Amino acid sequence: MTGADTNRPEIAVIIPVFNEADNIEGLVRRLVPVLERVARSFEVVFVDDGSSDDTMGALRRANEQDPRLTAVSFSRNFGKEIAIAAGLDHTEADAVVIMDADLQHPPEVIETFVAKWREGYKNVYGQRTDRAVDSVMRRAFTRRFYDIFALFGETPLPEGAGDFRLLDRQAVLSLRAMGERARFSKGLYAWIGFKSIGVPFEVAERAHGVSKFSYGKLTRFALDGLMSFSTLPLMVWTYIGVIVSICALLMAVHLLLQTLIYGVDVPGYASLIVSVMFLGGIQLLSLGILGEYIGRIFGEVKRRPLYLVAERVGQSSEPDTAPIPRRHGQRA
Ligand code: UDP
Ligand code: MG
Repeated sequence: MTGADTNRPEIAVIIPVFNEADNIEGLVRRLVPVLERVARSFEVVFVDDGSSDDTMGALRRANEQDPRLTAVSFSRNFGKEIAIAAGLDHTEADAVVIMDADLQHPPEVIETFVAKWREGYKNVYGQRTDRAVDSVMRRAFTRRFYDIFALFGETPLPEGAGDFRLLDRQAVLSLRAMGERARFSKGLYAWIGFKSIGVPFEVAERAHGVSKFSYGKLTRFALDGLMSFSTLPLMVWTYIGVIVSICALLMAVHLLLQTLIYGVDVPGYASLIVSVMFLGGIQLLSLGILGEYIGRIFGEVKRRPLYLVAERVGQSSEPDTAPIPRRHGQRA
């Protein structure tokens, strides 16, 4: 797939970074030798997700020392998922590796990824063998999410697969064609298909700093994931409505018979208040779920650009203007 364009590197690594100044040097030191070993030519595209520390300074220094290390910097924090999308937009390599900056994804595994790619796999994903480095609470949260996703999601997710993976250019172009902003990459990787294989790897401890994902951020992310890959929460209310109506009908029959047999009396305040509150609760809940979907539809129809670039380092291929919003089926 190496066309006439000789500048096109064989392998690109894209790395979303958000306040990772302390990690960049160590990462580059471990990553570059691996790439030099496995790739004919390569580039690394850091996507600075609106860091407020010296991440950009570190990236500029890295680029001065090695022009194969490039960077794109956002105008503010857009989130890891969007940063990955931007990374995919900013490389024309034959294969793209996505990894975290904190050395939790061991760069040496890329060697196996590339070997699998050369065998013909287009979607080679790292499969974490255990989650021991995560806190007990985060593990429980993750577990519940995957259980729910398996139940409701319309795209099955491979066990333990995350963002650490290699994608063939064909898969990258498919992902680029997806302009959605509520991006749940794990779902998108599974949705595009292509010949896929898992490569087990052990997640290391974070090199420096702390995880950038609070439980609030994780919850939002989990909701985005569920809602962009399932319409079940929307549909389920039809069935709940039917069940509640049947119960109400049975109750009516029961009350009618009771009145006919035992005569009229007017207790039932408790049952009245309970059923009113129960139904009120269900209606608010279903409205809330409608609202979640409508909010997301609103976000998508505004067609704002997915991200805004403030600065490019060692990336001269595009003018420094705001990207044009992408449409479905249109490549950026
Ligand atoms: N990250 C990002 N934007 C964010 C949060 C995180 O680009 O808003 C990057 C972060 O710099 C790191 C990767 O995404 O390279 C994974 O983040 P982190 O290690 O905090 O997540 P965890 O390993 O806890 O899932
Ligand atoms: Mg991490």
